[in-house]
Amino acid sequence: MKIAVASGKGGTGKTTVATCLAWTARQQGRDVLYLDCDVEEPNAHLFLKPDITETRKLTIPFPDVDESRCTACGECDRICQFSAIIVMGGKCMTFPDMCHACGGCMLACPEKCITEKQREVGVLETGVALGGAAFVHGLLRVGEALSVPLIREVKKAAWAQAHDLVIMDSPPGTSCPVIATVRDCDYVLLVTEPTPFGLHDLGLAADMVRALKLPTGVVINRAGGDDGLALRFCREHDLPVIAEIPEDRKVAQAYSRGLLPVEAVPETQQVFQVILAAVESAAKEAAL
Ligand code: SF4
Ligand code: SF4
Repeated sequence: MKIAVASGKGGTGKTTVATCLAWTARQQGRDVLYLDCDVEEPNAHLFLKPDITETRKLTIPFPDVDESRCTACGECDRICQFSAIIVMGGKCMTFPDMCHACGGCMLACPEKCITEKQREVGVLETGVALGGAAFVHGLLRVGEALSVPLIREVKKAAWAQAHDLVIMDSPPGTSCPVIATVRDCDYVLLVTEPTPFGLHDLGLAADMVRALKLPTGVVINRAGGDDGLALRFCREHDLPVIAEIPEDRKVAQAYSRGLLPVEAVPETQQVFQVILAAVESAAKEAAL
């Protein structure tokens, strides 16, 4: 089962929830993989402190045109959705940083004069996290414009391992990196905070998840002090609330020291057991 933990807005506690769920599942003796797909700013490792056992550079292909055989017919330019290969002034030019490595131009070229070269987009690290979960994360190369190809590679490497439960930490927002992360999961858990900003972005994230036809539910983090605003918002938007995690100074202190709240504040363990059970049950029901 693949559970993605996402949020429209950054800073809602998505990674805290995802890491605590992975730890909770491990405490139950489950076979868990934690997959940090937030490749631009991965930070789950700060909580899970994985023992990294393998580091590998990740590369993606980009087109290399043999100018001596290119007729400047423009077929590659026409098929590329990202303007990563264009024909101008009778010359074919490529822009590797914009290439999504789809391979379309190679297939379209009637002269078969496009081959692939590789460029480094980041690093993949695998290991074993605190509590015993398998751990995979990707680190986008500084200056790299596109994170989606790296996310795809990170997921490919993760799926090569077989685990019963996968907790995926999604990037924030609702754009391509998030969709690349959540699209093949069984359930999307949306983490929000009870503020107008948090709820606005929760609405956007919920629309995205619905467009992908994925089952979803909400965790309201740092709940309280909003006169029921977040609960009303979820009711009005037909979003099931899985749990509310109350504002707790001890949790904030644990977070600030890079400690897992479920370890540092044992009384929080029960709420994560409830969330895990509810999410798995909802995902199974949705799959029927
Ligand atoms: S591989 Fe795909 S994205 Fe890259 S240049 Fe060719 S058509 Fe464009
Ligand atoms: S499709 Fe091939 S031959 Fe045509 S412009 Fe592109 S690289 Fe050149």
